[in-house]
Parts: sequence; structure tokens; C-alpha cells
Amino acid sequence: LKASFTVVLDENDQFAGLISVISDITEEEKIERERREFVSNVSHELRTPLTTMRSYLEALGDGAWKNEEIAPQFLQVTQNETERMIRLVNDLLQLSKMDQKEQDILKERVNVVPFFHHVLDRYEMNKEETVRIDRTIPKESIFLWLDKDKVIQVIDNVMSNALKYSPEDGTIRFKVTKERKRVKIMIQDEGPGIPQEKVDKVFDRFYRADAARSRKLGGTGLGLAIAKEIVENHQGHIWAESIEGKGTKVFFTLPLIGRKRGG
Ligand code: ADP
Repeated sequence: LKASFTVVLDENDQFAGLISVISDITEEEKIERERREFVSNVSHELRTPLTTMRSYLEALGDGAWKNEEIAPQFLQVTQNETERMIRLVNDLLQLSKMDQKEQDILKERVNVVPFFHHVLDRYEMNKEETVRIDRTIPKESIFLWLDKDKVIQVIDNVMSNALKYSPEDGTIRFKVTKERKRVKIMIQDEGPGIPQEKVDKVFDRFYRADAARSRKLGGTGLGLAIAKEIVENHQGHIWAESIEGKGTKVFFTLPLIGRKRGG
């Protein structure tokens, strides 16, 4: 939206009022601007790991390779950066497929009660993890139409943030509530939270509430954007609520299978 203001004066040149005109910038302009921002973001995201790798490789080439203590550390850095770039390119490819609607969503009728338990069991298999996962999932069956792999990815993207930002020995709550027409899933952590003015933006591509921290934790800035795309493809919604210092809650909904009329 573009807003312009005109001050209106009365016959004595005294302030009489304000006329504001709010106009929509055209859809085309907006798409074009977003496209340019996206290309610029992608370039930046790729340049950062590449320049890091270049300086470490240069140092190795200049003799650091002979130092038995430093060399493995430097190689580890280049390996981490390479892995981040691979994750980034994979995420980008996935977004691009979803943008072109070329990716099929393979929806099937799924009882999400055992499905969610199964998805969460995977995290508990990881013995190195010190964070506890507390589940509240209804006992009775709930059937939804969904693409299982895609919904697993939504949960993975949200859970991986919750795990990354959780304090050691923290608890993550995973709560499923059946509402009248939809199922609501909440994933809550006890991490640092997200400042109020940023909490809606975290679903934008490449948006990071805390850029340095995200990069340090190996993030691509695309996880929640992908989750949003998938949830919306399932006619659901995704949002976050957070209190700084107290933790973050991410919610998403998936519609229940409608009951046939007259049945
Ligand atoms: P990233 O790869 O950076 O984690 P995401 O799209 O998954 O990208 O998340 C976007 C940003 O939202 C993150 O960089 C982080 O600042 C913020 N964020 C997401 N989840 C949480 C959370 N559970 N606690 C605190 N901040 C979070």
C-alpha cells in the first residue's frame, strides 16, 4: 500500500484536517519487486558461504594444511559451509517446484493419531538429544486428507527450530486439538522467543529474526517459508505466537475431512 497525505488549511491558514489517499501498488509491480528481492537474497545467501570457504581454503593453501591442529578445523568449516549450501539449494529447488505448481501433492486419507506418534518417535530415537518431547494427542482416530511426506516436512521444519532454540534439558510440547472443522497442531518450545514485531515475518523467505544465530545454527532461512507453502497447499493456516524470553508456539491447522451431505 502507498499512502499520501495532504494537509488542509482553513481560510485563516489554520490546520483544518488531513486528507489521506491510500492506493494499492499494482500486483505486477509487487511481483516484480519480490522477484528482484528474491534473486538478490539468493545471491547473498550463496556468496556468504562461498567467501568463507575461499578464505579458509586460501589459508590452507598458504601453509595451514601443515598444521595438524588447525587443518582439520579449517576443513570442517568448509565442509559445514558446503553442507549448508546443499541444504539451501535443495530448499530453493523445492520452493521453485511448489511455485510452478509442478509438484504433485499426493493426498491420502490418514488417521493422524498414529501418524503423529510415529513422526515424534523418530525424534526420540536420537539418543544425543537432551530435550524432552511432551505429547498431547487425542486417543480417538482423526482422519485427514494429506500428503504424508509433505506434512512430515512441515513438522520437521518446525520441530528442528524448536530443538535448535530449546535450552538444554528443555521441554517441547506437541499438542493436537480437534476443532469443529479442523485439527490444530501446536509446537511449543522454551527457547529465546521471537520479538513481537518479527513474529509474523518468520514465514517469509530468508527472513531471520536473529541472522547471526540462524547462520551459526546452520539455518537457510527457508524452513518456515516451505512449511507455510505446504500447509496452504492443504488449505490450512500456519502462524506463530511468542513471548520474548519465554519461548515460541508455532501453530498449524489442517482441515478435517468434510462429512457428506445427507449421509
Ligand atoms: P532458519 O533456517 O533460519 O531456522 P526458518 O524459516 O526455519 O529459517 O526460521 C526463520 C527464523 O525464525 C529463524 O531464523 C529464527 O530467527 C526464527 N525462529 C523460527 N523458529 C524459532 C523458534 N522456535 N524460536 C526462536 N526463533 C525462531
